[in-house]
Parts: sequence; structure tokens; C-alpha cells
Amino acid sequence: MRAQCCVVGGGPAGMMAGLLLARQGVEVVVLEKHADFLRDFRGDTVHPSTLELIAELGWIEEFLNLPHSKMPQVTVNMGGRDVTFADFSRLNVHCPYIAFMPQWDVLDFLAGKAAAYPTFRLQHRAQATQLLIEQGRVTGVLADTEDGPVEVRADLVIGADGRHSTVRARAGLSPVSASPPMDVLWFHLPRRPQDRVPFFQGGKGALISIDRGDYWQIAYTIPANAFGELKTAGLPAFRDRVAQLAPALHDRVDQIDWETVHHLSVRVDRLPQWHRPGLLCIGDAAHAMSPAGGVGINLAVQDAVATANLLGPLLARGGKPEAADLARVQSRRERAARVTQAFQLGILRDLYPKNLSDDTTQHVPPIFAAFRMLPPLRHLMGRFVGMGVRPERISA
Ligand SMILES: Cc1cc2nc3c(=O)[nH]c(=O)nc-3n(C[C@H](O)[C@H](O)[C@H](O)COP(=O)(O)OP(=O)(O)OC[C@H]3O[C@@H](n4cnc5c(N)ncnc54)[C@H](O)[C@@H]3O)c2cc1C
Repeated sequence: MRAQCCVVGGGPAGMMAGLLLARQGVEVVVLEKHADFLRDFRGDTVHPSTLELIAELGWIEEFLNLPHSKMPQVTVNMGGRDVTFADFSRLNVHCPYIAFMPQWDVLDFLAGKAAAYPTFRLQHRAQATQLLIEQGRVTGVLADTEDGPVEVRADLVIGADGRHSTVRARAGLSPVSASPPMDVLWFHLPRRPQDRVPFFQGGKGALISIDRGDYWQIAYTIPANAFGELKTAGLPAFRDRVAQLAPALHDRVDQIDWETVHHLSVRVDRLPQWHRPGLLCIGDAAHAMSPAGGVGINLAVQDAVATANLLGPLLARGGKPEAADLARVQSRRERAARVTQAFQLGILRDLYPKNLSDDTTQHVPPIFAAFRMLPPLRHLMGRFVGMGVRPERISA
């Protein structure tokens, strides 16, 4: 195959980059290793900044017809007290709230819109395994597909293949790692209309419950690498922990078993350099985000917009981005990634357990007292969480 741009990874970063480049007439092929987007471990949050981009593209009404729920404020419950730490209601945008929508719906929507551009191609079941490198420049990708290995040659390869990026490893780009505060156990429990379950509940661990209509999508956070210890303590003890944090679900916790609990290891890192000749990494491939604050998807989308704005016109003219062009994307987005990671690892760290017997209500981040008393701080945090550090607009 030959394309002007080959995007590896059909997550939020890759799909948005592919769509926006194709919209500018760039020939794009997106390689996605899975057969579809239907996986459960993806985050569900679509922030005001991403909704604003969809509005800019003229698709917001159609998008909001997809099933979703709205969260105009982020409130956490710590030791029986609600603390609102981000309020989006004063944002001057089309949608001043977080839309909770299963990510496969978001990605299907973007794929449907992108398919309308004749220069866009999405290839599922195509796993990039190697980079093609000629005279020090990345000139394409080798991918395993159902029909055997395929070579995709491109003027630019975008590595958007997430926190375990193959592309960045093959390119010799090494991340600097920070120690993540947690791992996540991800499972479902049935939901009844009368259930009252807070979005975030602190205590012995921390429980995040997302309303998905007829079931709760639940994330139970544990200290990094503590899953073995939790399993040794036994399933009844784990069910009990969940029931303690969500008493409304105590009559259902016996439905939890280890086979249906997915253990997701969290990773936080960033590349000192996001590019090498012919290749640019964006999204989690450039800066792996923890789920804290639910901001990683939106940061990935913002990277994609900056990439399309800065490199799309050159690619569309048939040009090959040089090191300086790629460096402009990094310098535009790097500060946003660093500040957001510092926020996740600093302010939000204390919301999560430090060991399995830790009660998180005993170390509520000190700034939470200020959130209770100072509504303007909640609005400020609403801007930071909802819009990010440097919100991007799609260039004409
Ligand atoms: C447990 C957990 C929960 C999270 N919850 C949230 C949340 O609620 N809200 C939020 O904003 N953020 C959340 N995050 C962070 C968020 O998931 C990431 O920041 C975000 O998904 C990054 O998007 P991306 O497109 O860069 O990468 P990804 O979403 O990881 O997408 C990468 C894509 O590349 C594909 N791929 C990988 N390797 C290859 C290959 N070799 N060839 C082809 N395709 C490949 C993958 O299948 C995937 O589709 C969470 C993270 C974790 C770990």
C-alpha cells in the first residue's frame, strides 16, 4: 500500500488524526490491530473540548443522538461528604459537560464520518510490527493482516498506538516513566433505576461507577501491582470491599468473579522526543496517561488536531514533513501533556489507595477543602479538566 500518511492505531488520537487529515485531502491509511472498536477497557469520557471540536465540524446534534449521559460537575464522595472539584457550567462552549459515552460509539462515529472522505482508509485487523527505515528516515510500516504481511509506504507515519506503543519502541524512542499511582479492576454489575451510586466513592480503595443504562461499568482502583495480594485475600473479601463502597449494590456483589474482573495496569510516561525523521508519536504513544481525572482521551484528541493543523497542509501539497515540522507539533502539545500528568500525579494521587488496607478518606487532597468553600476554584478546575491546557481549534 502507499499513502501520504500511515496512522498506526485506531484509538481517539489515531481516528481523529486520520479523519482531519483526510478532510484536508491527505491520503491516509489507519491501521488498527483489532477487528472492531468494541472493547470495554476504553475510557467513556468525552470532555467539553472534544464536544466543541465535534460542534466545529458541524456534527454535534448527530453525535448527541448517540446514547450518553451528561455530567455538568465532577463530584467525588469522600467519607460521606460530597466534594465538587470541577464545574463546567460556566464554560462558553456548546456542551458545558462531560458526555459519558462508550468509547466504541465515539470511534464508530468518527470512523463513519471519516469514511465519507475518499482519501481515508481504515484497515482493521492490521497490526504494525516493524517500521520501514531507509537512510535513517521512516518510510512506512510492516503490518500483519489476515491476508499476510503488508507493507505500507508513507511520507509520514503517525504512531498513535497507545501506551504499549510498538511504533515508538521500533523507532528507538524511549519514554521517561513516572510511577503510576494505581492499577484498575474493571467489571460490570446490573443497574436498577432506583440505584443511588456516587460517581466516585473513596474509602477502602476507590470506586468509580459509570451508568451504562442497564448496567454499571465499575472501576475499582488498587495500588499498582497489588492485584496478586487482593486475589490471595479471596473473592468474598473483594466483594465485601465493593459493597462497603457502594452499599446500593450489596445485593449484587456475589455476581463478581475473577473471570469477569479485568486487571488493567496503568502506565504514566512521556517521550523526551516525540519524533524522528518520517515519524511522529501522539496521544498515549507520546505520553501515556493514567485514568485519573479522565483526561487522557481528550489530550490524545487535542494532539491529533494540532498534528492535522500543522502538518495537513504540507502533506496535502505532496510535501514530506521534516524534523522541524514534527518538532512544531511536539512543542505545541508537550506542555499540555506535562502539566496534565503533573496534575494527575500530584493533586489527584491522594484520591487513590496507597496500600490495600488504606482508607482514602484519611488523605483527601488538601486542595479539596478549598473546592468546598470557593466556587470560583471549581469553575477554574472545570476549565482545566474540561478544556485542557491549550485547547485546539480545527483550522479552516
Ligand atoms: C484503565 C484505564 C482507564 C482509563 N479511563 C479513561 C477515561 O475514562 N477517560 C479518559 O480520558 N482517559 C482514560 N484513560 C486514559 C486513556 O485511555 C488514554 O489516555 C487514551 O485512550 C489515549 O488515546 P490514544 O488514541 O493515544 O491510545 P489508545 O486509546 O490506547 O488507542 C491505541 C489504539 O492502537 C491500537 N494498536 C495498538 N498497537 C497497535 C499496533 N501495533 N498496530 C495497530 N494498532 C495498534 C489499539 O488497539 C488501540 O485501538 C484510561 C486509561 C486506563 C489505563
